[in-house]
Amino acid sequence: HSDSDALFPTARGRHDAQPVYGHLIGGEWVDGAGTPLAVLAPATARPFAWIARGGAAQIDAAVQAARRALDGDWGRLTAAERGQLMASFGARVREQVERLAWLEAHDTGKPISQARADIRAVARYFEFYGGAADKVHGEVIPYLNGYNVSVVREPLGVTAHITPWNYPAQMFGRTVAPALAMGNAVVLKPAEEACLICLEFGEIARQVGFPAGSLNIVTGLGEEAGAALTAHPDINFVSFTGSPEVGRLVQEAAARHHVPVVLELGGKSPQVVFEDADLELAAATVCQAITQNAGQTCSAGSRVIVQRSVSERFQQLLAQRFAALRIGRPEDDADLGPVINATQQRRVLDFIENARADRLPVIAQAPVPAALSEGFFVPPTVFGPVPADNPLVCKEVFGPVLALQLFDTEADAIALANGTEFGLVAGVWTRDGARQQRMARRIVSGQVFINCYGAGGGVELPFGGTKRSGHGREKGLLALEELSTTKTIVNRYE
Ligand code: NAD
Repeated sequence: HSDSDALFPTARGRHDAQPVYGHLIGGEWVDGAGTPLAVLAPATARPFAWIARGGAAQIDAAVQAARRALDGDWGRLTAAERGQLMASFGARVREQVERLAWLEAHDTGKPISQARADIRAVARYFEFYGGAADKVHGEVIPYLNGYNVSVVREPLGVTAHITPWNYPAQMFGRTVAPALAMGNAVVLKPAEEACLICLEFGEIARQVGFPAGSLNIVTGLGEEAGAALTAHPDINFVSFTGSPEVGRLVQEAAARHHVPVVLELGGKSPQVVFEDADLELAAATVCQAITQNAGQTCSAGSRVIVQRSVSERFQQLLAQRFAALRIGRPEDDADLGPVINATQQRRVLDFIENARADRLPVIAQAPVPAALSEGFFVPPTVFGPVPADNPLVCKEVFGPVLALQLFDTEADAIALANGTEFGLVAGVWTRDGARQQRMARRIVSGQVFINCYGAGGGVELPFGGTKRSGHGREKGLLALEELSTTKTIVNRYE
């Protein structure tokens, strides 16, 4: 699949004999100016495609095209018509799951079945929000005699979206679908490390008939295209998913024009395992939650907090799970692939080396097979017990490295679970119903999973952070509130 042109139908031509992509602005593909940026396959560390390096000029053209779309064909569509376009988009994606999944797997390095699940999730986002488009209504408020007061819901206008490289497809679905459903015109700046799938989605949107300018995509570097987008005076909203550091820059830039932002940032999500839990299921889930996508998931369960009385047994179960992990290239469809690039690989390996230097006990480690030495692979590793002030407990690794902490009482468990700057997802494993509720209410986090764990579950479930994990909610019907505004209309008729 990797060398087949069929994988890159939206490429504009060739650069260094490899496919090169443009920007999608005002319904047209526009060639980039200057030298494009290389896209590496993480499993081989070799470039296989190129993207355009956009900057302030392309961002400005995209924002203007979006504004024209709102004032033109896109703004005139009914909510039902928008919903129909979104349903067509979902159907077109479902017809091409295999091709799109190979592109995504190649670009991110993830196992092909994880990429297939990501592509299906995008179809689901468009189906869900497409179905919701004509079911969002306002209200009529009782007021003084002789007055009719209505509150109508309106799009925000031009919405800016900046997305990360870990789930390029899913992030596209999660942020772009609700924005389009509410009738906003979108300018997307996806991550430079992996974004080809977003460009293919842009072409699918064109093909199913989204009006020109309703969805614009400008590729390029964060400090260039991304910064130009958040600084643009004519955007009405920013959705940012990425690191806490860049999230702060985005919020500062948006504040200059009083533009609202939704920030989905990092995490250090805990799973708390009590002695009465189903330990086998908990161990299997804890292993999966830190190794899926090679640990590069904002909601990765990167800490496990275990009751001391069952710690030995639980560590054995975890060690068995990690020993059985398969590491491979996308086509091997293993449990995990490489991390995204050399910088991330170095970062994850540094965390592992520093933990060893700190003499933290290694509970388990799955070695990287020698045949994979050229790609950006790292060995999945469990350390523990890890002291609460160690970087492995406080800092987001964004790789398959798990920190185990121990507790004696429920109060200790809550203190440890809440003991980081983050608050994105938490897991609780216990059969005691009252304890399930107490834990769920006391953990400070955007979502709590009890006897299960997930990256927020399906599209129906609102998702987002507390503390340094960000603010605002995506997914579910709540996303439609974030991506729209209300207008109160007071009409005196007597
Ligand atoms: P990043 O912050 O480096 O980059 C994210 C995006 O921001 C990219 O598109 C990048 O080009 C852009 N960017 C960089 N500098 C910018 C600037 N100055 N102005 C505007 N845009 C700029 O993050 P990353 O390394 O791509 O992703 C990893 C991080 O994302 C992790 O911290 C992870 O936890 C987080 N994440 C969070 C969620 C969530 O839903 N909470 C989901 C996925 C990833």
